[in-house]
Amino acid sequence: MGGGWWGEPAPRPDPKAEAMTELERKRGGAPVPADWTYAPAPEARDIVSLRERYGLYVGGEWIEPHAGETFTTIDPSTEEPLAEIAQAGPEDVGLAVEAARDAFENGWSALAPSERAKYLFRIARILQERSREFAVLESLNGGKPIRESRDVDLPLSAAHFFYYAGWADKLEYAFPNRAPRPVGVAGQIIPWNFPLLMLAWKVAPALAAGNTVVLKPAETTPLSALLFCDVVRQAELPPGVVNIVTGDGRTGAEIVKHPGIDKIAFTGSTDVGKAIQRELAGTRKKLTLELGGKAANVVFDDAPLDQAIEGIVNGIYFNQGHVCCAGSRLLVQESIYEQLIAKLKRRLTTLRVGAPLDKNTDVGAINSRQQLEKIEQLVESGRDEGAEIYQPPCRLPERGYWFVPTVFTNVAQSYRIAQEEIFGPVLSVLTFRTPDEAVEKANNTPYGLSAGVWTEKGSRILAMAQRLRAGVVWANTYNRFDPASPFGGYKESGFGREGGLHGLEPYLRFDP
Ligand code: NDP
Repeated sequence: MGGGWWGEPAPRPDPKAEAMTELERKRGGAPVPADWTYAPAPEARDIVSLRERYGLYVGGEWIEPHAGETFTTIDPSTEEPLAEIAQAGPEDVGLAVEAARDAFENGWSALAPSERAKYLFRIARILQERSREFAVLESLNGGKPIRESRDVDLPLSAAHFFYYAGWADKLEYAFPNRAPRPVGVAGQIIPWNFPLLMLAWKVAPALAAGNTVVLKPAETTPLSALLFCDVVRQAELPPGVVNIVTGDGRTGAEIVKHPGIDKIAFTGSTDVGKAIQRELAGTRKKLTLELGGKAANVVFDDAPLDQAIEGIVNGIYFNQGHVCCAGSRLLVQESIYEQLIAKLKRRLTTLRVGAPLDKNTDVGAINSRQQLEKIEQLVESGRDEGAEIYQPPCRLPERGYWFVPTVFTNVAQSYRIAQEEIFGPVLSVLTFRTPDEAVEKANNTPYGLSAGVWTEKGSRILAMAQRLRAGVVWANTYNRFDPASPFGGYKESGFGREGGLHGLEPYLRFDP
């Protein structure tokens, strides 16, 4: 006991110290760090076992590339080589298309739809069972934080297979009186920002509709697609239904022009999307393009501000901003501008940039040197054109590819940072006074993939959603995905929808 009522008054306890004592008691006496820094919390990497070298997965077998060409895939956070990957040439793409055609004609397309569904359910369950392994691999090869691979990429990939498994035997109900039939062999080309999720978006609806596929993952992130081949085997999918050919853009171009392909599904840059459209003009091949974006995230003065700050951060710093639908243009109503920017800057100082496999990391590594250079170049242009840059104090790792979360204010609509897709953790802030002005500015872009609206008024949300030229409009949230919800763009963001019933349509034909 301390001093009694008769002695000197005891000094008033420091409330902070008291709180610490309480915390320490709860933690069994373990000292609590005074400055609240995070201790490293790395996810174990040894759950993933990598081969030194990978071939091409064709007709249910691993084959060597015809020309013997390979390239090295790395961990972008350390530049450490991970494995040697095969570069598929025209002969290899030809073999893959042949295997897919054979599987399509000799079994898969005629299989009872409920049997097809069983395979898809199996794949979904295996992905769930092996989700930790896939999440670690995705972070290792792509640089994204493990928290995101674990909590977003993997659950959504499995959910996609579950969702489309459910449709496989209900196509007649989904498209009544239209006699839906599979298209044939689908050529699918995917990017590096969500490697497994993009694979799931492409493969699940294609198989559910009775097609077979030849898929090319991006050059920098082939490993999760190659591990997926193991899932395909485990699920005992008939050989040739899924074929994975790795390589760079040349392999993609071979798939696009191969005459044995019936449908191309592409996600990537607008430039390559346009080149593909030109290549396919006049052919009978079906095409869907999911391309870039420069989304407006519009915050009105009646928005719940703290919630909006989280939405803005999630909108642009999620997955290092390597997101086609990223909220990369923030439109703030003038009356709350100062307050919002102050809050946003404060929030940025709490983002932890670092090792992708650390469970405390918020922002991981940039996917490749090439992408880092592109971001640096556009940020430089923002400075040169007169925008004001803010970057929180941040110590970056010495090796690997990194970029500090960045906010540009004082941005004019004509600046490159307000027009071009940066595809990095860089936000451009603009202001508006009236809803009309917000709509005008939000739609002032060649793209039209997504948008966000923050306001407490339901009527304003509906009015804005009708006027924003974007395939997806999120209200009081951002970057929310659900397999039942169609996703896709207007204008230079492409055409066709992925997800939901709409996502089945490009993989079906309805002619008599
Ligand atoms: P690309 O469009 O080049 O890559 C997407 C996929 O297409 C990859 O698998 C790529 O192979 C392949 N590809 C490349 N050239 C061709 C071709 N001529 N024919 C067929 N397939 C081809 O995007 P990048 O990776 O070069 O990124 C560049 C920019 O594109 C980014 O900075 C970003 O702005 C944007 N982007 C947008 C994405 C989106 O989701 N909307 C996704 C990725 C990028 P490989 O990987 O070997 O080049």
